[in-house]
Amino acid sequence: MGESASAVGGGVTARDGIVRGATALATISDTPRLDAELLMAHALGLSREAMLLGRLDDLAPESFAGLLRRRLDGEPIAYITGRRAFWTIELAVAPGVLIPRPDTETLIEAAIDHFGARAPASILDLGTGSGALLLAALDIWPDAHGLGIDRSPEALVIARGNAERLGLAERARFQAGDWGEGIADRFDLVLCNPPYVESEAVLPREVAEHEPASALFAGPEGLDEYRRLAPQIGQMLAPGGVACIEIGFAQGAAVSALFRDAGFDPSIRQDLGGRDRCVILGGSS
Ligand code: GLN
Repeated sequence: MGESASAVGGGVTARDGIVRGATALATISDTPRLDAELLMAHALGLSREAMLLGRLDDLAPESFAGLLRRRLDGEPIAYITGRRAFWTIELAVAPGVLIPRPDTETLIEAAIDHFGARAPASILDLGTGSGALLLAALDIWPDAHGLGIDRSPEALVIARGNAERLGLAERARFQAGDWGEGIADRFDLVLCNPPYVESEAVLPREVAEHEPASALFAGPEGLDEYRRLAPQIGQMLAPGGVACIEIGFAQGAAVSALFRDAGFDPSIRQDLGGRDRCVILGGSS
């Protein structure tokens, strides 16, 4: 590993560095070319698009070898670059928050479908982490205001920083909390990506060793947090509103049953891979 990382330093172009980097990364990543491009763009201080469109003949910066080495050691790209794209926005991320996944965009699609030409005025994001869901929603609906809740003070710092950088701070509040505890308001849209991984599940090494366990694991069946959320959601939802809650692909039936017991008529939406990914709960109108 050390050798393949150091072979990209000293005098090679970004183009060649990416090719060599991608070859080395093929052993540990499903997306070696993309990873190498993102690391090279980061080393050059450019967006990936700007690099690909006209800077591939630049010399690869010395720092690329070190970034590549970290990736070869299993660190997620988003923690190395400190950035991750989600929906229409780019978020700062760090090891204290879960890296936003494309699957989670399913919740945003469900919300857009629910409101159609209307717009939610108020949005609640339970377990906001980096702020991904709340900030993506505020970016879609320019008149909406929102509240992001997280138990982790570290996550709240990252989420507030993201709101500032994206120019959304005036419409986004963040506060420490345990799901709906102490929340008196009702919201048109409730978004939530809770921890839902079974405690004994074997996750990819880069997830298990780098991402926060508190954002991933939820008891033996991964259902513990849904059990806590189910009795609370009704009090947070405004009439005509909707809650879009992420689930693991095999949890559709179990999570639907929990919310049915709490008085909802849940429906399920699938992600782009065709797997169950989001439970949708309509508010009473
Ligand atoms: N889908 C995530 C994974 O990569 C889990 C996220 C979660 O628990 N909310 O395992």
